Amino acid sequence: MRDEISAGGVVLFGNAILLLRKFNGDWVLPKGKIELGESHEDTALREVCEETGIKADILKYLGEIHYTYKENWDENKEVHKIVYWYLMQSKNMNTVPQKEEGFIDAKFIHIDRVVAMARYDDEKEIIKVAINEIKKLNEENK
Ligand code: ATP
Repeated sequence: MRDEISAGGVVLFGNAILLLRKFNGDWVLPKGKIELGESHEDTALREVCEETGIKADILKYLGEIHYTYKENWDENKEVHKIVYWYLMQSKNMNTVPQKEEGFIDAKFIHIDRVVAMARYDDEKEIIKVAINEIKKLNEENK
């Protein structure tokens, strides 16, 4: 079993959250692997920008998810993955999905619809945590 660590963003603009559509139709959050010497925050910001074209600022840390998957080249070898998630804010909606990495679309989806659209249950849970935080921040700013 090998370990893999990634970081990603739940990126907010107005009342909408950024999702990426993979070539197979799945909608996912932007994320990617930590590079040597890089902080989790820097990875999350870099991957959001590389995969979606969005430059965002971190608002707060949301939590981590864990899952395992099987290596393509060997069904018996499992990868244990941890992904650290950050709530981020974007200043604009000008997305540029990274086609070379297999993403065919990047869209801001209204918070009322985004949980239903996301492919993975653990990403749905992180989006719910993010929506709670957004509501708290909105209350504080009233
Ligand atoms: P990264 O975006 O971190 O560079 P990757 O694109 O190399 O990662 P993953 O997105 O982790 O790889 O996908 C590897 C496998 O795990 C795929 O089979 C995918 O379907 C599955 N997977 C991806 N995200 C999740 C998740 N949130 N929960 C469960 N399984 C997932």
